[in-house]
Amino acid sequence: MGFRDINSFNVALLAKQGWSLLRNPNSLLARTLKARYFKDSDFLKSNLGRLPSLTWRSVWESKGLLLKGLGWRIGDGQQVSIWEDNWVPEINVLNDQFRETNQNIVKVADLIDCNTRKWKSDLILHTFVEREAESIICIPLPMRHFADFVVWSGEPTGEYSVRSGHKALTHDGQTQVHDRFKQFYKRLWNLDLPLKIKITVWRIACNFLPNYSNLYYRRLRGSAICRMCQIEAETREHLFKVCPVAKEIWEKLEIVWPILEENMEFPEMLCRFFAENSLGICRKFVCALWGIWTARNKFMHEWDMRTAEALACYQALVLGVHLGIRDVDVEGDSRAVIQKLQGESMDRSEIAAYIADSKKLLSHFRSCVFIFQNREANDAAYNIASEGIIRGENAYLSHLVSEGGVDLMMAERR
Ligand SMILES: [Zn+2]
Repeated sequence: MGFRDINSFNVALLAKQGWSLLRNPNSLLARTLKARYFKDSDFLKSNLGRLPSLTWRSVWESKGLLLKGLGWRIGDGQQVSIWEDNWVPEINVLNDQFRETNQNIVKVADLIDCNTRKWKSDLILHTFVEREAESIICIPLPMRHFADFVVWSGEPTGEYSVRSGHKALTHDGQTQVHDRFKQFYKRLWNLDLPLKIKITVWRIACNFLPNYSNLYYRRLRGSAICRMCQIEAETREHLFKVCPVAKEIWEKLEIVWPILEENMEFPEMLCRFFAENSLGICRKFVCALWGIWTARNKFMHEWDMRTAEALACYQALVLGVHLGIRDVDVEGDSRAVIQKLQGESMDRSEIAAYIADSKKLLSHFRSCVFIFQNREANDAAYNIASEGIIRGENAYLSHLVSEGGVDLMMAERR
């Protein structure tokens, strides 16, 4: 249970005390509090007052929750305001556009014929919109006289429960988050920036980005670790906020992220930032997010190229062994990879495994030379290697090469 959850659970618990004040106005506690804090009104209309006791303050603070969920069961209709109280099932507050023209009807009692104890249906049909009128006429009226009483609308029994109070609170919390999100989008779209930047930041907020921690890519890549710092998983929060690369940017721009509350999700942090900063700062912030994302992609692209290259070299050697070739020339377009393969010392980079595997195969050949070639001279190999990486397969095509690959190889031979 997170902090916010505990807090709303606490309020829901206190509201039970507030509910018992309403249910048992003659209890000792109810009478004591009334004498001291709401002598001439009732609990629901009470103010906190001066120097409130701890008990009173905590019960009083739960009043907001009760007010949200309270409804009325109609007895004689004397206590219930037609326009202000929640008394018609499924309708929170009646449409009060007719209130002005109907100043003679104030209390629900005005809608009840006190002789027959039935609803004044003609009056009701003429006063309210159809749906409301129908709901009112369907409310059962007691034949014998009794006073209206409050009910808790969150439970079919009409009795307050901590469970339903908590539910009402958390549901409300969710709508608040939802509203803040709407605000965030509105401000984002209004920024004077190119659309592609705004769309990227919107995708960051919705987690539509192919960063490492998104499951699909995790499976594709085998690891969720941030490639730039190698410290921890590349979540959105890591990538954009705590990765040393990002941190440096925020420091230089003198941008401070909102303080992280427990359980706060990344989109909430963005919303917070937008709510707490001027449009000018938000603009700078959005540009920086976009910058981090594009720089990261460039980095990843280069990393992918290197990995593809190292894997391709290794697979070329495996193929050579299978075909029984004695003397091989391995051409590659990544200077870094070719240098690693040529070098004597042990490679410790991320592609160390491919380099070591490749070197182990060298004993199978009489001679093996690694040669750097620039990209243009090496398109076919590049294509095949990239395909292998994208598919996550170790298969190598020795005779069957995709049509594009054949065309390219032919072109290179010419
Ligand atoms: Zn990092």
